[in-house]
Formats: sequence, C-alpha cells, structure tokens
Amino acid sequence: MTADLFPSYRGRMEYFCLGCGKRYPTDELYYTCPECGGVFLLDNLDFNELKKTSGEQWRALFDARAASKRTALRGVFRFYELMAPVLEEEDVVYLGEANTPIVESSPALNAATGLRTAYKNDGQNPSASFKDRGMACGFSYLRALIRKHGWDQILTVCASTGDTSAAAALYASYVGGAISSVVILPHGKVTPAQLAQPLGSGAVVLEVPGVFDDCMKVVEHLADNYRVALLNSKNAWRILGQESYAFEVAQWFDWDLSGKCIFVPIGNAGNITAIMAGFLKLLELDIITELPRIFGVQSHHADPVYRYYSVGDPKEREYKPMTVSPSVAQAAMIGNPVSFPRVRHFAEKFEAAGGKRAFQVIQVTEQQIMDSMIQANRNGHIACTQGGESFAGAKRALELGLVSADELCVLDSTAHQLKFVDFQTMYFENTFPPAFEVEPDMSLANSPALVISPEEKERLSPEEYTRVTADKVVARLGLEKK
Ligand SMILES: *Cc1c(COP(=O)(O)O)cnc(C)c1O
Ligand SMILES: [Zn+2]
Repeated sequence: MTADLFPSYRGRMEYFCLGCGKRYPTDELYYTCPECGGVFLLDNLDFNELKKTSGEQWRALFDARAASKRTALRGVFRFYELMAPVLEEEDVVYLGEANTPIVESSPALNAATGLRTAYKNDGQNPSASFKDRGMACGFSYLRALIRKHGWDQILTVCASTGDTSAAAALYASYVGGAISSVVILPHGKVTPAQLAQPLGSGAVVLEVPGVFDDCMKVVEHLADNYRVALLNSKNAWRILGQESYAFEVAQWFDWDLSGKCIFVPIGNAGNITAIMAGFLKLLELDIITELPRIFGVQSHHADPVYRYYSVGDPKEREYKPMTVSPSVAQAAMIGNPVSFPRVRHFAEKFEAAGGKRAFQVIQVTEQQIMDSMIQANRNGHIACTQGGESFAGAKRALELGLVSADELCVLDSTAHQLKFVDFQTMYFENTFPPAFEVEPDMSLANSPALVISPEEKERLSPEEYTRVTADKVVARLGLEKK
C-alpha cells in the first residue's frame, strides 16, 4: 500500500433497512426503504477483507495519507476503505472539507469549569459546518451514479435548519453539470448567514412557514413521488461521510481513546449516529483498542432522544416525537429526528462493546447553552450555539458525576461561531424573546463604543481629528504615558 496512490481495494456496498432488514443494491438512488419506509444504513459486504490488514498497518497507512497531496485522499476519503470504497478517484469531490483541528481549552477556562475540555472545530469546514463531511461523500456517490447511468439532469433537494442547505448548495454549485440544487427552509428560522449561503451558491431557495419538521414532510413527499436526489441525513451516504469525524478524533490522539469523552449535539441524530458507527468500525479493525465515551446533548426545548434514554430500563423506553420550543441551538431544534432508529441501533452496539457508560444522553437548558457559548468564546474558542450545547453538556455531566477532571472532554462545535452571531447579539443586548428562556449575564455583555461623533469630526482639521480622537481613546482606557 502506497499512501499517495488512490487505493485499489473495492468493496461491495448494499443498503440495508433498519426497519425490515431488506437489502438493496447501490446502483439506484434509494432514500428510504420502498418496502417499509425504514431508514437505511450502508453495508460493505467485503468489510471482513479489511481485517487481513492489521490495525498497526491501517494506522500507518492513514498517518502516511495525512501528508498526501492527492486531493482525493485529503478530505473524508483519507479513510477511503472505511467509507465508500466503491467510488473511483474521478468521482471524489474535494472542497477542502474535513481534517479540522482539535483545540485544547486554555488553563484559565479549564480552571473555571473544573473540566479538561477541547473543541473540535467542525465550523472550519468550507461551508462552516460538519455537514460538508456528509456532502463530500453524498456528492461523490452522485457523481459516480451520473457517470454510470449517463444521466443529464438530476435535481438535489433538501430540507434544512440552515447548514444542510448551505453545504448542499455549495457542493452542487461546484459539481454543476447535470446537478442543480433546491433547498427548502423554514421561513424565519435560519440565521441570515445561513440564508445567504445557498443564495450565494445560486441554489433555488424555497421557504415554507413552520419549523424544520414541516419542511422535512414536504421533501419526503417529493422524494416519494418524483425523481430527485435527497440530501437530508436520511441519505445514508451522508452518514458515511460524517463517520470521518470519529476517524479524525482517533487519529488526532494517536489512536488512543482512553479517557476521552466525546460531546455531540443531537438534532436529526445523523451526526451522533455517524460518530458511533465510525468508532465501532475502528474497533472492529483493531485500529483502536478502546472506545471513547459518547455523550449526546439536547436542549430541554428539543429533547426527544434524551427523553427516550432517560428511562433506565430499556424495556420501558418509548420513543415519542415532540413539538419543539424555540432554541438557540437552532440547528438541533428537531422534535422527530429521522435517524432515531440508527441511534438505537448503534447505541446498543456501543454499549455492548464499551459497557453501560459508553453512550449517554445529557439534557441542558437554553440558559446553559448560551452561557457556555459566551464563556467558550471569551476564552479563545469559535463555538456556535450547538458548540455551546456540547460544552454545557460536559459541565452537566461533571455535575452528575458522569465525567471527571482527569478525562478529556472533546466538544463538537458543529458550526462556526459566525453563523450564529445573532444569538450572541441577543445575549449582549438582552433581547431574547421570552420563549427562549434566556436571561443574559449582563456582566458579559459587550458592545462597540463610538469614540467621537461624526459632527465633531466635521468641525476638526485632519490633524486635530487624530489628536482629539487619540486623546479620547487614552481617556477611555486610562492609559499612562510611557
Ligand atoms: C445539523 C446540525 C446539527 C445537528 O446534527 P444532526 O446530525 O441533525 O443531529 C447540529 N449543529 C449544527 C451546526 C448543524 O448544522
Ligand atoms: Zn424496510
């Protein structure tokens, strides 16, 4: 195996339905099971062949590939064999996604929380969220399909809480050709930055009243009745791409995950599914010898997964979709997560391999999410509100005695701070609508101060203006002459 060559191994992938167990070939576009409507996972029938290579050899190969200049191996496909080993190099779409850094918190922040935390900044992806991982894989698969079938036109569609549409529109606009992109958004429920993204990429942007769950129903109706490629996380290829997050965490820590706790916000539950699936693959191939512990985090305003797992006895658990209330973790504000069956599937496997404490779900308040995001970012991080949710989850886990200070909590900031600045503004200006239930700590409020009025500037010569302004700055800051 040469690290810089595109791999020659090819697997045989099939969809399998988590509802009825039926299997389907991957040379057709399937979204949900035609038989029972269940969600799919993708299975490599030749996965066992990968076991002929030792864990040590895999680690060496992935480490060597980390230095590859070959774009097809730089992003999520650094882990080609574990992901979608049916694609050809010419199909692989690479827009600079994946390989995001893990930044350890400063000693001051750790001292303030009593935790050891680090952020994995998935906002440092091209469209500024982790959704690019899944899109890179989804669009690569689409390219392969288009090539095989000779299709000259395919419409990609997604419903979105903002970031899926930004990512889908970006990748669609890059691939172009037969592909065009439509995104369906809940009117007024995505941030201005998230709305600007698909518009800038030239996608057709359609808005409907309601919340994400309403958009999802419209999109599913389209998928059931028309030939469109659905890019929501029900699309199993996206889950595969998102597994790269787990692979990267393992690689970052030199494949040693002892004492690592991974905190992930849960919305539609695709990301947490993928992260669990990814770590399990590494364990199966002996690439890691120990699983990390996984903590899903949900806001009390949108917590169907938490509610399910909060019942101790698995036989008593009952999944119930819920109506959500406004959440600052807007990208995770989902009452009926489509990947819930996948979570259950992998959580069981995770617990079987890693013990009862290997997978848990934590509930946090809107207040804790906002306070945590502000605190993180005042200490050098670039967390979005969902990143605040991860951090709040770690603090809550400490409170509940579920983690200790000698473990490292890896917090998923699923998007970039800049996509969600409006929530920061509401915090600083104390303008949260009551439904959010957030009382800002006004000692943390920050606002720009105008040093000199435009009228005053008018009255001054350019030289006077500089001196007078500088004097005002000096007075404000109480500077002393050197
Ligand atoms: C999509 C999204 C989530 C939720 O991820 P799921 O896979 O739907 O659980 C969380 N944070 C951000 C920023 C997102 O874009
Ligand atoms: Zn089925």
